[in-house]
Amino acid sequence: MPEGDTIFRTARSLGQWLEGREITAARTTAAAVPAAKLVGQRVTGVEAKAKHLLIRFDSGVVLHTHMRMTGAWHVYRAGERWRKPAYQARVVLEAGERVAVCFNAPVVELLAKRGEEVHPALTRLGPDVLVDPLDLEEVRRRLAARPPSMAIGEVLLDQQVVSGIGNIFRCEALFAERVDPWAPWPDLAPETIDALVTAAARLMRARIATSPEPAAESTAGPTAGPATMRTRPARPAVYGRTGRPCYRCRTPVATAKLGQQARDVYWCPKCQGHLPTIP
Ligand SMILES: [Zn+2]
Repeated sequence: MPEGDTIFRTARSLGQWLEGREITAARTTAAAVPAAKLVGQRVTGVEAKAKHLLIRFDSGVVLHTHMRMTGAWHVYRAGERWRKPAYQARVVLEAGERVAVCFNAPVVELLAKRGEEVHPALTRLGPDVLVDPLDLEEVRRRLAARPPSMAIGEVLLDQQVVSGIGNIFRCEALFAERVDPWAPWPDLAPETIDALVTAAARLMRARIATSPEPAAESTAGPTAGPATMRTRPARPAVYGRTGRPCYRCRTPVATAKLGQQARDVYWCPKCQGHLPTIP
């Protein structure tokens, strides 16, 4: 699943590729989206909001894509060979010699001018973890409405509490702060919850800072695609390391499904104080 940092970098790359340019051709497989309307419009900005990617046009309309587990945006020069099959392309935007292709995104829609302000998913989102300064007060306010049985590991993935954290950085933040992923959130001090959210932001920012810069105009080549960048931290401490020794205490890293979403959580049973159940 693309994490907020991947979408952020994708937005930055797409912005560099398309901003200020006029769309010369546009097509989509999303039947309800009148892509032809975009032809002749100029791209005024590209923004990531949590896992939503918004491409803004000078008429005020906004192309909204949500990547969920499968979606990715690539950028290419005209005529360049795509790295995914054409039948997976959901949106193709051409701007002269530049092409941006969105593959496999489950959500593609064109929002009318000001449509963003009433869009249910976009308006419900909690504060974006990558916005600086992070609105921790608002995160606390939103968390207060959650059931007291909800595990902190689930809270960190709840986009309506705080948006942009995916599974990788959820696991890494819990490890960094030595917090049991199964702890019900009311059991934790508010400062600990603040620290977890802040740790996720810090780890994600570090990932953005160390990622290769997206292709600049003069150097764009076959590897120009922003969405080809890896989403993992350079060296995850726990994510994907089942059975490998914890970097701090050498206890084997454990993994199990957590919460309603049943996403795999990776943790150190000793550092984070939660023993895995033996199946
Ligand atoms: Zn450990």
